[in-house]
Amino acid sequence: MTEITGRTRIWGILADPIHHVKTPQALNAMMRERGVDGVMVPIHVGPADLPALVAGLRQMRNLHGLIVTVPHKTAMLDLCDETSAAAKQSGAVNAVRIADGRLSGTMLDGAGFVGGLRAGGIEPRGMRAYLAGAGGAANAIAFALAEAGVARLTLANRTRAKAEALRDRVAAAYPGVPVEVGGADPAGHDLLVNGTSLGLAEGDALPFAVENIGPSQTVAEVIMQPTVTPLLAEATKRGCRTHPGMPMLTSQLNLMAEYLGMTA
Ligand code: NDP
Repeated sequence: MTEITGRTRIWGILADPIHHVKTPQALNAMMRERGVDGVMVPIHVGPADLPALVAGLRQMRNLHGLIVTVPHKTAMLDLCDETSAAAKQSGAVNAVRIADGRLSGTMLDGAGFVGGLRAGGIEPRGMRAYLAGAGGAANAIAFALAEAGVARLTLANRTRAKAEALRDRVAAAYPGVPVEVGGADPAGHDLLVNGTSLGLAEGDALPFAVENIGPSQTVAEVIMQPTVTPLLAEATKRGCRTHPGMPMLTSQLNLMAEYLGMTA
């Protein structure tokens, strides 16, 4: 985008709060590079006003799609006219394509995580995966790892009931992948993933036990900031291969641009 004109296509990002979001900068730079006459704008809306806003946005003929982030990802699922399997599985939507007033939603967190792994030279197919967490990100990652063909999947979460519920849903969707709920020790797994928010704040506990991890294991993060979380520092110290949180986002931005039709 060089200049906004009457022909410029518009995309929005919905969030509350909104000041910290970085997606507009990233996607506007991508559109500039690709010669797309489009702009992504931040739209600040609170949870109570989301349905009315979305109803109004349906009337906006030059709005081509939305990125949806905290706290609207779950509520957006029911506001779409159709949703992808990934959105239904994770119970949330983070990208919405708009065409002819119809809203099609998907969830790209899981595909972004697996795409980020592959971009880092890590192929999850056949790996024995251990995933800490059962929140929004972990839900999407669990299904994406099963889809990618991991040999087995162990889920561990502070609130065990959430891990059990996730196990049941993943097992039902991917009967060929053994899924179980485990404890804090990731022994016997090749790929260890932190899908919790632990590591974001200084002084956070580690998401799983690191005493016995070693060079045969890969440790992957969802946390982007700090780049080297205490978990990744421990993993490096113990000779593991490590994979940071940022590639999940980078990979996802490309998927979002594709899904939202940000082409010249
Ligand atoms: P949710 O709030 O949905 O889930 C948080 C998860 O962390 C839950 O499993 C929760 O366990 C666990 N958790 C939180 N605090 C603790 C604690 N003190 N001890 C043990 N477990 C804890 O968050 P999201 O899943 O949406 O996000 C998780 C992280 O993923 C965020 O930090 C986010 O920034 C990151 N993320 C990164 C992306 C990327 O592109 N790299 C994309 C999306 C998210 P419990 O269920 O027991 O509460």
